Amino acid sequence: MKTSEVLRAWACILSGRTPSISIELTRECPLRCPGCYAYEPEHLGIPGVTLRQLADYKGSALVQGTLRLIEEHRPLHVSLVGGDPLVRFRELEELLPELERRGIHVQLVTSAFRPIPVRWNALSFLNIVVSVDGLQPEHDVRRKPATYERILKSIAGSKVTIHCTVTGQMMERPGYLEDFVRFWSEREETKRIWLSLFTPQQGAAAPEILTLDQRRRVTEDLLRLRVAYPLIDMKKGLIEELQHPPASPKDCIFARTTLTVSADLKTRITPCQFGGTPDCSQCGCIASMGLAAVGHHRVLPGVTAGQLFTISEMIGKSVNKLRSLHGPGEPLGYPPTTEDREAA
Ligand code: SF4
Ligand code: SF4
Repeated sequence: MKTSEVLRAWACILSGRTPSISIELTRECPLRCPGCYAYEPEHLGIPGVTLRQLADYKGSALVQGTLRLIEEHRPLHVSLVGGDPLVRFRELEELLPELERRGIHVQLVTSAFRPIPVRWNALSFLNIVVSVDGLQPEHDVRRKPATYERILKSIAGSKVTIHCTVTGQMMERPGYLEDFVRFWSEREETKRIWLSLFTPQQGAAAPEILTLDQRRRVTEDLLRLRVAYPLIDMKKGLIEELQHPPASPKDCIFARTTLTVSADLKTRITPCQFGGTPDCSQCGCIASMGLAAVGHHRVLPGVTAGQLFTISEMIGKSVNKLRSLHGPGEPLGYPPTTEDREAA
């Protein structure tokens, strides 16, 4: 993270706003990936309602509704997720240039099931993140119709971030991660490579969940691979955080600085983008680890950035309280905490 970005984010927190917003742009996705958290029954926190059943928007109602949400919260960074946001391709054609014009950094997360327009290369604030579930044999089974063949056609002429969520199955074969990283490092469309670890819900059992030993081996592999494959865009400190994830959502800077809103542009996903009751002790989210590494960084003798953040967050909440005394309509600015809910 550049110093100027840190300062802007800090100013945002001090004024009681959330620096980052993640929007589930649509409830639709043509894929049915095993282990997808977005369609888990507990994701929305609404008993009996899954993302596929939530109302969503299309056309100018979606474009205007999304812009209104962004105007309300004034984030520095917007993630467009889903479902798959490319389902709303026509709306993105309007939305992306408008967000670029406003100087907002956008991360678009997709399976690349349809072509990514080469003209989007001109959007300098846009980062297209393509999710790839391991090497071709495993990926094609899990992510049909967004197979390797389809992805390679979809990203031709574009520059994308390749993101892989590492699972327990991948770690059963030594050398799997290196084969994956080598393949994507050799593609001219690859701008950078990110790897997360599968994050389960509390008490879940699934073959995707890594054992403690597998988690340790991923950490060791990544520390070695990041030196050999420079497109791996993960600092040493970030990778080391995988060994001691935040103890709970309230210790997670990422969860506290990112507001996640679902496809009806109203429902908030808490405590983080996973929804439900994620098992923080097994978290492998690259964004959470990246911000944890920033939080552990010493900014003054005896003071970490995380401690400074906590104080700034308290100031920001006080600013919000003062605002609410002066009238309705101001954004809360943070995902509601337990205290917020109790106070409501
Ligand atoms: S592409 Fe993404 S949103 Fe769609 S099913 Fe797969 S993991 Fe879920
Ligand atoms: S991102 Fe990870 S550590 Fe943070 S609240 Fe979610 S599961 Fe917990």
